[in-house]
Amino acid sequence: MLQRLTGVEAVEVRLPQELNRLDGLIIPGGESTTIGKLAAMYQLTEPLRRFADEKPLWGTCAGMILMAKEVGIDQPLLGLMDIVVERNAFGRQKESFEEDLYVKVLEKGASKPFHGVFIRSPRLVETKGKAIEIARLANGTPVAARQGNLLVTAFHPELTDDTRFHQYFLGLIK
Ligand code: GLN
Repeated sequence: MLQRLTGVEAVEVRLPQELNRLDGLIIPGGESTTIGKLAAMYQLTEPLRRFADEKPLWGTCAGMILMAKEVGIDQPLLGLMDIVVERNAFGRQKESFEEDLYVKVLEKGASKPFHGVFIRSPRLVETKGKAIEIARLANGTPVAARQGNLLVTAFHPELTDDTRFHQYFLGLIK
């Protein structure tokens, strides 16, 4: 997705020193417990926290869980955003779903829906402090938030053809 956007060089990051040359970072989906444990094992946890102090960080799905301060269970977190998240909030793998979202912060976001792909997704139980909700499902469940240079989405924008969320993130970098 990033490579499709002009002027962006995208690289993969696995080690702390690879953070140095970046302008922004996306923590992808996956399994938040595994990502959190591996981050600790590879001494990435503190460098990631420092990175977020200075530069834009976007967590999708499992990445959103890692960035939350509260998830209600004990697992390694970065604990960066004033959000309460519930893991697997919509049920098991077969309850994964897709839904069109109206996300006003995106280009034409009020009229042109963004297709949300939710895979064993978490939900936002609460956005508090400086965190601001930016997207919700038709039933009112919040599914994306921003806090300064920090962005979280419960869904996977990289699994659509729509680059608007990535464009929005690049806007935080610029
Ligand atoms: N269910 C995963 C978790 O709790 C997140 C799934 C995903 O990233 N698509 O970590």
